Amino acid sequence: LRNAVVKSDKIEAISHLAASVSHEVRNPLTVTRGFLQMLKDPTIPEEKRQFYLDTAIDELDRAEVILKDYLSFSKPQHHHVSILNVKTEIEKSLELLSPYANHNSVKVTKSLAENLYINGDPAKFQQCLINILKNGIEAMPNGGSLTVQAKQSATSQNILIEIEDTGIGMTTSQLAKLGEPYFSTKQEKGTGLGMMVAYKILKEMNGYVDSSSKVNKGTRFTLKFPVVNHPYKSGILPNTTVKGINS
Ligand code: ADP
Ligand code: MG
Repeated sequence: LRNAVVKSDKIEAISHLAASVSHEVRNPLTVTRGFLQMLKDPTIPEEKRQFYLDTAIDELDRAEVILKDYLSFSKPQHHHVSILNVKTEIEKSLELLSPYANHNSVKVTKSLAENLYINGDPAKFQQCLINILKNGIEAMPNGGSLTVQAKQSATSQNILIEIEDTGIGMTTSQLAKLGEPYFSTKQEKGTGLGMMVAYKILKEMNGYVDSSSKVNKGTRFTLKFPVVNHPYKSGILPNTTVKGINS
């Protein structure tokens, strides 16, 4: 069951991330504002008060989830495309998700080759990885294993990153909808934006993704990126210098 992506037209449809963030976050903010406005009325009964307050808090939480799917790592400083050490970036992403994995009893196994370099914006690449990894964890509410591998393809000049879970999997039609804005099977817990953002970032990085899935068995994503020959890769300079370039 394969779905060689690129949902280019759909991804193109939401080309300006900032514009879509403000659009997405406006709804919960508007709802919250409405409930706060109603709370100004001193005569409303206590149970209604509680309901308005709970709804306002829920809506603010939702706004936060949406922001996280878009820009978990937006920082005030400017990021730009640089040479990324694949292993370092994957490890940072996994570290950020490790409390979430623990909470879901998900065991993370990694096998990451050294000295793999690709071009990208580090913040965006991490956002892409996190959105995919997070879905893997969420697909295993009762625990399971998440495996992450990074290696250079034996047959081509590609870096391959495999992310595999032993979760609930997807049907053929669900797999086909992956990356469509607002496609989510998680009801109010989902945004349906995580994969769209991940695919958009992959496309910017000249990457591809291959996804395969089996219901109740699990899902595997294979990300492919063109290899970059790092100038210091040959070991002329120590590794610490290479890291400094990325940060
Ligand atoms: P969200 O996670 O908010 O629902 P995403 O865009 O991140 O939105 O994912 C869209 C949908 O794709 C999910 O709701 C889920 O149905 C499906 N999906 C994505 N990754 C996986 C996975 N690893 N296992 C099972 N289903 C997945
Ligand atoms: Mg998601």
